[in-house]
Amino acid sequence: MVVRRKTIQVPVGKLMIGSDYPVRVQSMTTTDSQDVEATVAQILRMQEVGAELVRVTIPDQISADNIPAFMRAMDVPFIADIHFNHKMALAAIAHGADKVRINPGNIGSEKKVREVLAAARDKGTAIRIGVNSGSLEKDLLEKHGWPSPEALAESALRHVAFARESGVEKIIVSIKSTDVESALTANQAFAVQSDVPLHIGITEAGDPPYGVIKSSAGIGAMLLAGLGDTIRVSLTAEPEVEMPVAYDLLKATGVRVTSPEIIACPTCGRIDIDLEKIVGEVREALGKCTLPVKISVLGCAVNGPGEAREADIGIAGGAGEGLLFRNGKTVRKVKESEIVSALLEEIAEIEKERAAERDAAEALTDAAPVGER
Ligand code: SF4
Repeated sequence: MVVRRKTIQVPVGKLMIGSDYPVRVQSMTTTDSQDVEATVAQILRMQEVGAELVRVTIPDQISADNIPAFMRAMDVPFIADIHFNHKMALAAIAHGADKVRINPGNIGSEKKVREVLAAARDKGTAIRIGVNSGSLEKDLLEKHGWPSPEALAESALRHVAFARESGVEKIIVSIKSTDVESALTANQAFAVQSDVPLHIGITEAGDPPYGVIKSSAGIGAMLLAGLGDTIRVSLTAEPEVEMPVAYDLLKATGVRVTSPEIIACPTCGRIDIDLEKIVGEVREALGKCTLPVKISVLGCAVNGPGEAREADIGIAGGAGEGLLFRNGKTVRKVKESEIVSALLEEIAEIEKERAAERDAAEALTDAAPVGER
C-alpha cells in the first residue's frame, strides 16, 4: 500500500488538501474566460465527471470581474490561474477566488509577489506556487548550470519560505516539467525538504492516447512514491476527458479507489467463452458504481482460481461456463449466459455486507466512551 508523504492540510474554499485527505482531482477550463455562459457550461460538465476543483485562466479585467458569476454557478472551489500580471492576482483575490495560482518567476518583481502574498494573507486565500523550468531565477540557473530538478526544487523551497515570511500559510506547490523523469526527481527533491502539499502533473503531456500514457508514467510514478495531494492530467483535449483518466490513475496505483476494478486476462488460444463481451457487459452494468471492489474475469482455469483469490470476486471461464469465486473460494458453476448476472448479484451482496459492516463500526464508535473514540 502506498504511504503518502505527511503534509500540512490546506483549506481551499470548503475543500481540504493535504495528506490527511484523499488526493483531489482537478482540471482547467479551455473556454474564453470573458464568456461567462460558455465557461460556466464547461465548469458544470467538469463537475459532472468528478472535478473537485476547477481552475480558470484570468488574463484580463473582464475575466476577473466574471469570477463571482463563475463561483455562484459552481459547487467546487474556484482557482484563478494567473500569469505575468500581478494585478489580475489581486483582482482574483478581491473577488473571492478560493485559490490563486501564480508563478512567482513570471510575476515581474519581488515587490509584486509580496503584494499578492499580502492580499492572500489578509483575505485567507490559498496560493499555489507554480515553478517550471522556463522561468527559473537567474542565480539558480548559474548555480546548477541548467534548470535541473534540484534547481526547480530549490526555487520552489525559496518561494515557500518567502510566502511564509509574508504570513501566508495556505500554500500548495507544483513543480512541473514536460519530462517525466525530471518531474519525478524535482518533486522528490522538494518533498524531502518540505511539508507543503504538492499539486502534481506532467505539463503539456499532449493528446490521447500518448498524453494519457505519458501522464500515467509521470503521475503514476509520483503517486507510487507517496507524492501528490492533488492531481491534474493535462491533455490536449476537452477537460472533461481528464477526470476519468485521473480517477483511473488513482485507482491503478491504489491511492484512491472510487469505483470497481475489473481485472481481465488478455485471452489466448485456450479460451472457450466470449470474455471481451462479458467484460464489456460487466463494465457497462456497473456504470457509476462507487464500490471499491476487485472483480477478476479470466478466460480459463490456468490462472483463474489463483488470480481470483487476489480479487473480491472472480470468474474463471470453461467450455460454455464459468466457475465463480469469492475471496478465493469456489461459490458455484454458472452457464456462460448467466456469468454477468451472477457476478452482479455477488457484487450487490458485497455492497450489502460492507454497508452492514460500516453500520456496525459506527454503532461501536457511538457506544464507546468519548475518551476512547
Ligand atoms: S487466463 Fe486462460 S484464457 Fe486467459 S490468457 Fe491466461 S491462459 Fe489464456
